Amino acid sequence: MGVLTFLGGVHPYDGKELSKSQPVKKVIPGDKLYYAVSQHIGAPARPLVKRGDHVIRGQMIAEPGGFVSAPIFASVSGDVTGIEKMRMPTGGLTDCIVVKNDHKNEETAYTGADWKELSVDEIKARIRDAGVVGMGGAGFPTHVKLSPKDADAIDYILVNGAECEPYLTSDYRMMIDAPDKLVEGLRIILKLFPKAKGLLCVEDNKPDAIKKLEAECAGDSNIEVRTMKTKYPQGAERMLIYANTKRKINSGMLPADAGCIVDNVATVLAVYDAVAEGKPLMDTVITVTGDGAVSPGNFLTPSGMLFSEVIEQAGGLKEGYEKLISGGPMMGFAVFGTNLPVVKTSSGVLCLMHDDVSASQPSPCINCGRCVEACPENLVPARLSVYADKGQADIFMANYGMECCECGSCSFVCPAKRQLAQSIKSMRKICLANRRKK
Ligand code: SF4
Ligand code: SF4
Repeated sequence: MGVLTFLGGVHPYDGKELSKSQPVKKVIPGDKLYYAVSQHIGAPARPLVKRGDHVIRGQMIAEPGGFVSAPIFASVSGDVTGIEKMRMPTGGLTDCIVVKNDHKNEETAYTGADWKELSVDEIKARIRDAGVVGMGGAGFPTHVKLSPKDADAIDYILVNGAECEPYLTSDYRMMIDAPDKLVEGLRIILKLFPKAKGLLCVEDNKPDAIKKLEAECAGDSNIEVRTMKTKYPQGAERMLIYANTKRKINSGMLPADAGCIVDNVATVLAVYDAVAEGKPLMDTVITVTGDGAVSPGNFLTPSGMLFSEVIEQAGGLKEGYEKLISGGPMMGFAVFGTNLPVVKTSSGVLCLMHDDVSASQPSPCINCGRCVEACPENLVPARLSVYADKGQADIFMANYGMECCECGSCSFVCPAKRQLAQSIKSMRKICLANRRKK
C-alpha cells in the first residue's frame, strides 16, 4: 500500500491503490452535454453556434476570445439547445453551450500530418487550433506557453509525470497505456526548441511507468527519464523544476525565465493528438475514486458530460457518502453536487464516506511549528493565515504569501485543524486580482 510522504512526515495511505490497476475505460456520453466557454485561463471562448444548429463530434463550437484563449469542440453529435449558466467545479458560474446528443456519433474527418515535415509555426498553429490547454489544472493555453520570447533560451522541456496528488492515477494510467504517444508528443514539442532537452519526470512509486518510458526513448539522446523521490508536492511546478534542474523560480517568474517549460502528461498527449492526428481536445481522462465510489477507476470522458454521469459509470456513489472533491484531496475543490460539467482540466472526482474536514473543529494555534516544517516554500503558514483572515493583503505579501503553491500540506499537518491553506489560497486570489487591476 502506497504511503503519502511529505515534508511534514508520512501518512500511511495515499489512496492510489483504489484505481491504479484499472485501465482507462471509455465513458459513454449522456443525453445532454454542457460545454463551458471558459475552461482555460484567458478570455472566454465566443460561441459559434446557436439554438437549433446541428453539430458533430470534433466541430469547433466556440472560437478563442483572444490570443490567450482556446476554442471549444463538441464531443458528441447532436443539436444545440441553447446557452445556460452552469456552476463550475471551481465554484463560479459560466455560460455553457448545451448540446442534445443524438447518439449517432457523427464525427469530423481529422487530417493527420507527419510532424517532422511541419514548420515550427505550423506545429504551434495545430496546437492552438485544437484547443490544447494545460490539463494539469491551470488551463493555460499551450500554444502561448510554447511561444516564449526566445525559443533558444529554453534548455529543458519537462513532462510532469509526478502525479504526487494522493488518490489520482490518471497520469499514471496514461503513461502505462500510451508511452509511445507521450514520447512522440515530447519530440514534437522539442522541435520548437532547438537547444532544449526533454525530461520525463516521474516519481519512484511508478516503476512500471518509468520502465515503459525508458524503453520508449531508448537511443534518443535528447530525452531522459528522470526518476524523482516520491514526496508531495513534487509535481508542483517550482518543485519539479528545482528537483530536475536545480533552477529556482518564484511567483513573479515564469518557468521560461529559468529556461524551462513544464507540461503535464495529458497535455503532451493532447499535443500529439493535435499535431500528428489533427484531433482537437475533446476528451479527458478522469480518476473517479475514494471509499465512497462503488468501482473506482480511470475514465476517458467526453468533455461536457456531468460529474453525476461519470460517477454513475464508476458504479455510482455508496450510500451515506459525505464528501465530493473535484481533483485530489490536497489541492482539489470540495463540491456541493454533481451537476457540474467536465472541463478540459478535470482530473478526478474523489468520493469520500467521511468528511474529516467538516467534522473537525479548528482550535487556537498552539505554535507547534508543524505547518512551517511541512511547507515546501519555507513559509510560515500559521502567520500567513492570520494575515489572510484579517484581510491584511500588504503584510501577507510582505511575508511572501504569494509564494504559496497551494499544496495544502500545512492544513493537513495542523494538529489544531486550522484551515491554513484555504485562508492563504483565498488571500492569494484577492492579491492576484488586485495586481491585475493595477
Ligand atoms: S503555505 Fe502554501 S505552500 Fe506552504 S504548506 Fe501551506 S499551502 Fe503549501
Ligand atoms: S497553525 Fe497549526 S501547525 Fe501551525 S503552528 Fe499553529 S497549531 Fe501548529
